[in-house]
Amino acid sequence: MIVIGMDVGTTRSKVAAMDETGRPQIVLNRRGDPFTPSVIYFEDGRTPIVGAEALAEGFLHPEYVHSCFKRALGSPDGLHTDASGKSYTATGFTQILITDLKQDVEARFNEEVDEAVFTVPANFQDHKKQAMIDAAGAAGIKVVKLVHEPTAAGIAYALQKKRDFRFVVFDLGGGTLDVSILEAAGSEITVLSTTGREKLGGEDFNARIERLVVEQFAKETGYEPTVESDAMFFQELADKAERAKIHLSQKTATKIVAGCQGRQAIVEITRDQFESLTSDLLQDALGCTTQAVEEASLSWTDLDSIILVGGSVRMPAVQSALADLSSIVPHCDIEPDRAVCYGAAQMCAMEFAKQGKAIMIGGRAIPTPQAFVQEVTAYGVGCCVADKDGALRNAVILSKGTSIPTTKTDRFSLLHEDQTEARIEILQGGEGQAYDECLSIGEIVLTNLPVEHKKSKRIEVTYAIDANGMIRATGKDLVGGEQVEIRIDYSKGTTSSKPGRDAA
Ligand code: AMP
Repeated sequence: MIVIGMDVGTTRSKVAAMDETGRPQIVLNRRGDPFTPSVIYFEDGRTPIVGAEALAEGFLHPEYVHSCFKRALGSPDGLHTDASGKSYTATGFTQILITDLKQDVEARFNEEVDEAVFTVPANFQDHKKQAMIDAAGAAGIKVVKLVHEPTAAGIAYALQKKRDFRFVVFDLGGGTLDVSILEAAGSEITVLSTTGREKLGGEDFNARIERLVVEQFAKETGYEPTVESDAMFFQELADKAERAKIHLSQKTATKIVAGCQGRQAIVEITRDQFESLTSDLLQDALGCTTQAVEEASLSWTDLDSIILVGGSVRMPAVQSALADLSSIVPHCDIEPDRAVCYGAAQMCAMEFAKQGKAIMIGGRAIPTPQAFVQEVTAYGVGCCVADKDGALRNAVILSKGTSIPTTKTDRFSLLHEDQTEARIEILQGGEGQAYDECLSIGEIVLTNLPVEHKKSKRIEVTYAIDANGMIRATGKDLVGGEQVEIRIDYSKGTTSSKPGRDAA
């Protein structure tokens, strides 16, 4: 039996499996590497190749190389059309990547993988979570559970420490930032708050270096490369910027040699310069951290430690800024690149144990990690209501930070007493937030409503949120009795259109 946690990252993906001693271990891929670049190259524009080979072989054909597609997960947009006319979305790419990771595990253990725990950023919107489940399913793996990345890292850390404490998980990876506050007490691990940015990670720091190099190149050579005519220049620059950034975590200066259209420039970048170019990104991350502490109704003195997770925490500025903010020296007691994946494999063992499965590895039963994990929602979810002055806003039913799984209900009045139809538009966002600032994630329509002048608050809206954070919504007319339930259909991506909202 293989007990697997999969961390499908924006820039790198990792898999961990429980070993016969009951500990998680990284599963090396078929190249022998612990990490697989989340990159796909379509050889001849048709045959997908994944990982380090994709990076190496795709160098000459940047138009067939795809990376960072996790950021577009759940979008219906086609990102590649192959030679046979088949179109691939980010979910399709993720399926290809997961299939490759599955083959790595199967090659190592000589056993089929058909179930695993997958990790997702805590601030991932629901349609992206659904897309991850769909991609795994299409790759032949049933998602036992989706676990938020910082929660997974927190599980790995709490199980290692085996004592009561409160801590911050600061998770800055290739594409996303998650900050969660957790409490470990006995065998209970409770997420007290979670916040973050869906688009803040190492890639954004690289982009600042790339921009600087392009500007310097133009200044020195008189030619400004463009993505349209110099695709290979940008492909190489992405690689050089990544290396330069990593050098700057060790050294105080580095150089990039850039060549394009027969011209060359050598751009020197100091660590100070890099830190000032990216200071707004770091400030944003610190702002999220402060917010997470506040949303947990705590102050820094209530917290025992900060654990650093994700490859980007290796930037010295991140570590020193967090120490300055909190007066706590952050640490990497668990390998920042592996903690999420370890926790996912441990979660998989716990889920199997819950299902009553004896976990047999190498012919003997392994000890199951003992923990009960209480997760919270990363978003508020409500429905669209109209103010007296007609302005549309979000009336939150499930507040951000609510422990899950849970069910919440609220009642609303019709806008006009003689309405015979009500549209309940489900919004992701904060209480009272303007409609345009919220994300519309679904709609329930109640029809043939009997006209009843006396009854206010007749439309009942219920949201049930499962352990993966996925929502089931029900709308009910308390007068006529009509009830409509939807499991939000994420297959078309989120709705940004604004249908008639004459509703509750
Ligand atoms: P992860 O999503 O945890 O795999 O993190 C990947 C990100 O970590 C990428 O953006 C890498 O560039 C970044 N990273 C890895 N090592 C370092 C380092 N030594 N210094 C700065 N960033 C790093």
